Amino acid sequence: MLRSTPRSLPSLLALLALSNLVLSASLPAGQAHDHAPLRKRLPGTWYQPGDHPAHALFRRGKRDTSNDGVDYPPVGSSQWSAGYPQGKPDPTEYPQEWLNALNAAVAAGNIPNVPVSTQVNGGNPTYGSLDPTGNEVCSTTYGCRNNDDIWDAPDGVWAAGFDDGPLPTSDKLYQFLQQNNVRSTHFMIGVNILGNPNEFSFAFETLGDDIAVHTWTHPYMTTLSNEQLVGEFGWTMEIIHNSTGGHLPKYWRPPYGDSDNRVSAIAKEVFGLQTIIWNHDTEDWSIDQPGYSTTPESVNASLTQWITGPKSPGLIVLEHELTEFTVQAFIDAFPLIKSSGWDIVSVTELDGESAYANADGDDGEVTPVSGIFLNAPAAAASNASASASGVNFGSSSAATSSSASPSQSAGSSGGAAGAGGAKQAVGSAGSSSSSIHAAAAPTGTNLASGATSVHWQHVLGDVPGMLAAMFTVLVSAVVFA
Ligand SMILES: [Zn+2]
Repeated sequence: MLRSTPRSLPSLLALLALSNLVLSASLPAGQAHDHAPLRKRLPGTWYQPGDHPAHALFRRGKRDTSNDGVDYPPVGSSQWSAGYPQGKPDPTEYPQEWLNALNAAVAAGNIPNVPVSTQVNGGNPTYGSLDPTGNEVCSTTYGCRNNDDIWDAPDGVWAAGFDDGPLPTSDKLYQFLQQNNVRSTHFMIGVNILGNPNEFSFAFETLGDDIAVHTWTHPYMTTLSNEQLVGEFGWTMEIIHNSTGGHLPKYWRPPYGDSDNRVSAIAKEVFGLQTIIWNHDTEDWSIDQPGYSTTPESVNASLTQWITGPKSPGLIVLEHELTEFTVQAFIDAFPLIKSSGWDIVSVTELDGESAYANADGDDGEVTPVSGIFLNAPAAAASNASASASGVNFGSSSAATSSSASPSQSAGSSGGAAGAGGAKQAVGSAGSSSSSIHAAAAPTGTNLASGATSVHWQHVLGDVPGMLAAMFTVLVSAVVFA
């Protein structure tokens, strides 16, 4: 159970993050050793009464009583694509409403003044002399469980969710989910939605699955400023909102499982997003990657151990729709999940709630968002008491530190542990569909060789600029040790 967390990571990660390239996830260390009072269910309706301020952040179009107030270009159209950043969000191009909401939350004292973390050579983010597991920071990378975050499923429940889509590799998974009538939550990356509109629409419209936020460009979120965080959340919510007839996501999952009290607060206070982590990591993303011993067999062995193991707590397993290997890992494990008696539900169905803040079910009528924000303007201040179940920053009882240490990890599978264990880069499945997605890029991998490539041409307006940036990164990636 115990194993060491890698002490350092390739500088590649930082390069990639800086270059808007999409990376994938790894494991927050130590969650199995946490003794804090844990939430095992997704939140109920505590934040839904009253008017939800996030509503105003996305209904900025001309008002039309026949819809929810926004003109929605057809998903995949050039008009649709033109509405979003083609790479890392530029704060000077945000809707002013987002920055106003951030400023209001900060002014109200609802965003803790946790310093931006520092990341060196792709290692675990650090906070200077501050204890990352302490009440002030409470970094998920180090296994600290904020009371508001979700790590476990109810007993006997398998929470089905997949990160990093939509991608061309999602197609096989979606077919399987459809054939087996499995509902799941897709933690989607904004730029991947932009690049793979057909897969996105299939997940939402045909599967009727839940769409959750996995940020716009998949950075280590704790390394970003408040303003940068707003863009990563905001644009992803915007493209989901505007591509689903106005459904506003309620949940998000941090890339690499990297969040802390500040990041979690901005997600919640500005955008109403609940943070979902996981309690087991298949490390499926590292299958068949140079430098890793992870194989389909080793992933299957880990899954088999968890599936046939204790039913308490229920399982939230980190899985990806990232490569053919990650997809096949779930497909191969599915019969055993079924035969072992797990109640398989979408991650966001754990508490019987809709995945969206403003609709009655996935195909229900979209209604104005309602809910509670700690930074609610005066009109909603009367609802502030409902935020009591949220994080009370500055209170020692709120951001509960876990007893986990960075040297501990929950998963029993092999491979890297710790959020810093993520070693992924940009690649593509070679599909004709546009994609920005991650193929594992472990330490020492020569990214300029092999099958990694990127297809931007169908989606990005600023193709030359982005290609130049990516080329620079890929070349740079060759030389790190
Ligand atoms: Zn991811």
